[in-house]
Amino acid sequence: MKKHNFNAGPSILPNEVIKDSSKAILELDNIGLSLLEISHRSKEFASIMERACDKVLKLANLQGKGYKALFIQGGASQQFIMAAYNLLENKAGYINTGSWSSKAMKEASLLGNVIEIASSKDQNFNYIPKKYTIPNDCDYLHITTNNTIFGTQYKTFPSTSVPLIADMSSDIFSKNIDYSEFDLFYAGAQKNIGPAGVTLVVLKEQILNKVSRSIPSILDYSIHIKSDSMFNTPPVFSVYTTLLNLIWIENQGGIENLETNNNSKANLIYNEIDRNSCFKGFANKEDRSIMNATFSLIDDNLTEKFNELCNMENITGIKGHRSVGGYRASIYNALPIASVRVLVDCMQKLENNL
Ligand SMILES: *Cc1c(COP(=O)(O)O)cnc(C)c1O
Repeated sequence: MKKHNFNAGPSILPNEVIKDSSKAILELDNIGLSLLEISHRSKEFASIMERACDKVLKLANLQGKGYKALFIQGGASQQFIMAAYNLLENKAGYINTGSWSSKAMKEASLLGNVIEIASSKDQNFNYIPKKYTIPNDCDYLHITTNNTIFGTQYKTFPSTSVPLIADMSSDIFSKNIDYSEFDLFYAGAQKNIGPAGVTLVVLKEQILNKVSRSIPSILDYSIHIKSDSMFNTPPVFSVYTTLLNLIWIENQGGIENLETNNNSKANLIYNEIDRNSCFKGFANKEDRSIMNATFSLIDDNLTEKFNELCNMENITGIKGHRSVGGYRASIYNALPIASVRVLVDCMQKLENNL
């Protein structure tokens, strides 16, 4: 039986996406070859890459607005240094909302002056800072829209005159936002849009070519743009499976419908966390993520019992990150609400059997 998959990343993908990508591994579109053995320069793969980039811009409502979509390797972690390489000349502002923001700052500081505009470290990152001023001589402001480990998420974005850059790895395409507020955003595919191995980068072309340093080709956005994400061999499987998932998003009725569904899932789990006398939530209520719900038992002695209840129901992946402890239910786009109901049932069984 298939498990209820609450993994934080790599994480759940829609069943039909996994089926169709498995089929393509055996044979791609009746061409007599596997997806894994065609040239990335073939017309078949060129079309896959082009369709994937087009779908991204279409879903983000950025077509015809001066943006490019790229698929690059190296993970979101590579974007921490790549964004700075291409955009940081003097100083850049970062809002520090957790481990991933901190890592982004560490990398960027190798190349320039990194200013921590605000931080929620004082409360172990359980909230999103709201009051701060952004110096208008920053080359850019960097935020992490959803903090996968701590379970916090921006509900509105900082308004600023400097270019806004975001790590959207764990909430891209989970809700309708105005993507044009951002000059560059990136997401490791393996949380919400595809398998591991590829990172989506969407950027406004006009922000490039403003730094004086020379940029290694593999880290140069302009070179990736010029070569249509094929400067070197792209991860063909990951790009193809991401394309299938983007098509799945369209077939769900687009991001709006996913958002409605994601909100229902989030309400279900958070209402139970707040109602149930055995549990408490980690993140500040107003900053709670609709993708990663962090919570813990009030009495640690119930851990074994609760874990057993979850195991019996085939629930997997809810152990919290070590820097928060407790539990984390990742409820990404592809997770059915039925899985959340099963988890909520286990929480109720625990309370009822005391
Ligand atoms: C998982 C994650 C990363 C790291 O992604 P990699 O692809 O493993 O480099 C960065 N930022 C956020 C918000 C994440 O959730």
